[in-house]
Amino acid sequence: MAARLASVYLDGCLSLELRPAKYYSANNLPILVREFPPMTNREPLGRVLLIGGTHADELTSISSVFKWMHKLRRYHTGMFHWRITPLLNPDGLLVNKSTRTNANGIDLNRNLPTPEWQRLSQDYWIRTTGRDPRRYPGQTPGSEPENKWLVEEIDRFKPDIIVSVHAPHGIVDYDALDRRSAPHRIGMLHRDFLGTYPGSLGNYAGVHRGIPVVTLEMPHANVMPSAKEITHMWVDLVYWLQRNVPKIKMAKTRLNGQEVPDATASK
Ligand SMILES: [Zn+2]
Repeated sequence: MAARLASVYLDGCLSLELRPAKYYSANNLPILVREFPPMTNREPLGRVLLIGGTHADELTSISSVFKWMHKLRRYHTGMFHWRITPLLNPDGLLVNKSTRTNANGIDLNRNLPTPEWQRLSQDYWIRTTGRDPRRYPGQTPGSEPENKWLVEEIDRFKPDIIVSVHAPHGIVDYDALDRRSAPHRIGMLHRDFLGTYPGSLGNYAGVHRGIPVVTLEMPHANVMPSAKEITHMWVDLVYWLQRNVPKIKMAKTRLNGQEVPDATASK
């Protein structure tokens, strides 16, 4: 499946007009991005950054994003301004056996520069994971090229919300300063709060920077949901975004001029 997916990735990129982000992975592979820009005469409800394949052994997290990009290519109405990278971690996919980590053996979702990263991430890795090599956060925060791109992309694009796709917990998670509007259900995925981790995207963007993160956890890492289910998830996601992104933007406007509180600790 990895080989098949790899070929889908490379060929699909061409048909989807993915462009290199001018950033390269640790192994020098391009991080590819597709933009679905605002349409003339329609102000989008907000900017959405959609990310798949942070953990490249979660194959469904990559394929689902491709499926949704194909839907957008046909039906993009300008409701949102999208930037999409279906595979944040190309190194982990384009090897014989796909890996969670990047080519430097680092878990990208533990390496983002969250507050007190040095102490908390090492402590978490040693005490909680028992030095699990699949969850190694690296030596310094934000050290990895894939995460440098991600942090700069957040600065450049200023997303109102981030949707990040993983597997295999089969739930929808939500990290934000205010979690009252967290989605109850997206397709077959029911809400569950898995907690935030030092260096994770939910912690970095959702808690530390005040940009809510919807995490969709597919039920299996390498068995795709049915086409019907993929559509169901997409419809639910877009419907939730439509209702909630305007509220998120309004809340942010109210906070304007005030500091977004820092995360003091991670659960
Ligand atoms: Zn994951």
